[in-house]
Amino acid sequence: MECNKDCTSCQSGCGIKCPVCGATSIPVESITVANLSKTPVKLDHDYYLCLNPKCKTSYFDNQDQILVLDDLKVPIWFKSTFLDYIVCYCRKIYLKDVIRAVLSIDEPTKENIIKYLEKENIETNCLLNNPLGKNCDLLFNNAIEYAVKLKEKENTSNVK
Ligand SMILES: [Zn+2]
Repeated sequence: MECNKDCTSCQSGCGIKCPVCGATSIPVESITVANLSKTPVKLDHDYYLCLNPKCKTSYFDNQDQILVLDDLKVPIWFKSTFLDYIVCYCRKIYLKDVIRAVLSIDEPTKENIIKYLEKENIETNCLLNNPLGKNCDLLFNNAIEYAVKLKEKENTSNVK
């Protein structure tokens, strides 16, 4: 399959493995890494984000620069604890906020949740704020799905 550079066209993660753990990675534009990193990065080439939830490596490049999670200003959601699990980086919406919103509103869409959390006026810039440099639609929808399931579980246990 043709690589479309956003890793939705195949599962191989471009075959670039994390130099620390050997897991697959996803390419991220250097401008994104530069904005999220506390240490300087080079802007002339792409970086890669290690996809292993247990690996402490965050970004690396093909020139032997390796950043760990502590080198970043934000936690990487899939490498962090529940309390640090950020869903929308631009609006600083955490998974726990999504759950709180879903429990309180009837129609849990991304739009309604953002409104409920009173974060609709925050300017977004996914390229700079999201660790993948992409919008959080997929992550947000997964979080809603997770929260809805929790809500359903809670409702059925209340009946008992
Ligand atoms: Zn790794």
